[in-house]
Amino acid sequence: MRFCVLTLFPQMIEAGLHDSIFARALKRGLIELETIDIRDYTKDPHRRVDDYTYGGGAGMLMQAQPVYDAWKAAAERCTENTRTIYVTPQGRVFDQKLAAELSREENLIFLCGHYEGIDERVLDEIVTDRISIGDYVLTGGELPAMVMMDAVSRLVPGVLHNEESAETESFDNDLLEYPQYTRPERWHEKEVPPVLLTGDHRKISAWRLEQAKERTKEIRPDLYARYEYRQTVIKWLSRKKRQHIHMMELLKRGRGEALCFDPRDGALLLENGGAVMLTCTSAEAGERLLDQSPVDLSGRLFCVCQQEILPVLYERYGLTETRGCYQAYYTRGVPLPVPKDMDIRRLDISFAEEIFAEYHELVTFEELQDCLASGTMYGAFVRSETGEARLAGFIDTHSEGALGMLQVRPPYRGRGIAVALESFMINQALGRDEIPFGHIFEGNEASLQLQRKLGLNVTDVILWWVS
Ligand code: SAM
Repeated sequence: MRFCVLTLFPQMIEAGLHDSIFARALKRGLIELETIDIRDYTKDPHRRVDDYTYGGGAGMLMQAQPVYDAWKAAAERCTENTRTIYVTPQGRVFDQKLAAELSREENLIFLCGHYEGIDERVLDEIVTDRISIGDYVLTGGELPAMVMMDAVSRLVPGVLHNEESAETESFDNDLLEYPQYTRPERWHEKEVPPVLLTGDHRKISAWRLEQAKERTKEIRPDLYARYEYRQTVIKWLSRKKRQHIHMMELLKRGRGEALCFDPRDGALLLENGGAVMLTCTSAEAGERLLDQSPVDLSGRLFCVCQQEILPVLYERYGLTETRGCYQAYYTRGVPLPVPKDMDIRRLDISFAEEIFAEYHELVTFEELQDCLASGTMYGAFVRSETGEARLAGFIDTHSEGALGMLQVRPPYRGRGIAVALESFMINQALGRDEIPFGHIFEGNEASLQLQRKLGLNVTDVILWWVS
């Protein structure tokens, strides 16, 4: 991720972002930051960049020429599909969802205004997004640009360490976060809520959810209404839980949103990574849902629950590749045994080549690098005769939440490594109060057998992945 900021006050940006997590990510090369002083591009002999506004009125306006030339210098160093963001109180209001969307871009250019703003003609020519940080007016765009870069950068894979995880936070699942406490147990005559000291994970989760709901209802009724809508969709999906577990988990985990829902027609969901999930009561109902989508669905990956909707997808979106999958899910809630001597660790990007040599049919090298950078891949290691730890197998949680990519390298097969890896991932998901699930391609008997052996339910209905 590369940020470039066009500003009259580059030192403000540099001073503001050269500490803490942002600075660490810069040092590690996970993000890059460049500031461009718009004043360096003015043709005025006195280095002026502003002038009076036509039509009168108080205040000065930044002129088109220096802004345009500074932007051209920035754009030359970026890839073609770079987004140029004008930070302005007249823009779409920045939120966590927009931060997540921007974190998937390669380059972002921020244009900071000052005085009364910037000549509209240059904005029309170069700006792709106008974004505000709230309904108030600041003196300049530097603070808004820093706010956005901070929020976006912490979602870039690898920027946050484990202990700073962005997994459960305010706005996940449309709820504000529950109250939290640290030592001491008693402070100013106030006790930590007793449930948090019980060690009973289920009770603690239920308490936290209740607190989050109460807080959100009181402080942000608008957000709470969205949460309730999501719950309505989940409830409807749960009528056919076996078929819809992936869609229910997507919504429950806050990894996607409902684009359209009608209890008579079905539900159309958009996963944060861009894939579309559809379940419908008939092909006509499915078409109605697709018609209502507020988002352009062409060129996307689809996962659908009904075979009869496939011809519609082929015709509408020119999709051609279809793969049928069984869905396997684990509802027992009991952690599975993982042998104590099994060395399972999170994998980082340095394993990309080693894994790609083994696993390349379903992912590109770049996709694999993204999986590794996002910290969702784990590997099992076996000691060689010389005592060296060798990667024996690996597993991932896909962005839509399914377990997958499970592979054990040939020399290490038959030693229970696949069982251990999947059990490990299932236990991790249980710890997050999730229902672990996976999709198994039709005909992959070895995997189906493994799922049954581990106690997963395997559906007899097929889901269709269409690309
Ligand atoms: N005349 C402008 C208006 O009424 O919309 C306000 C200009 S403001 C004084 C100067 C600059 O600060 C803007 O061009 C913009 O870049 C930045 N700015 C001020 N408030 C902002 C906000 N809430 N969100 C994002 N940028 C803001």
